Amino acid sequence: MAYRTTVQCESCGSNIVPRMTFYNGRPTATFCPICGAIIQDFSPPLFKYIPVLIFVAMGIFLFMEY
Ligand SMILES: [Zn+2]
Repeated sequence: MAYRTTVQCESCGSNIVPRMTFYNGRPTATFCPICGAIIQDFSPPLFKYIPVLIFVAMGIFLFMEY
């Protein structure tokens, strides 16, 4: 039995072989090589909030300056 290595991209509808990105040796996400849309996101939930936390921290810092 052959493995199914292609998936249909939800964004552009093409049958593609997902590209995988790694962070610290762990897969973080697979994405479409044609349009760049994320197919699967393996990153832990906290990972997504880091930019938000930085933004909030900067907001607090700026607020404290004045
Ligand atoms: Zn695509």
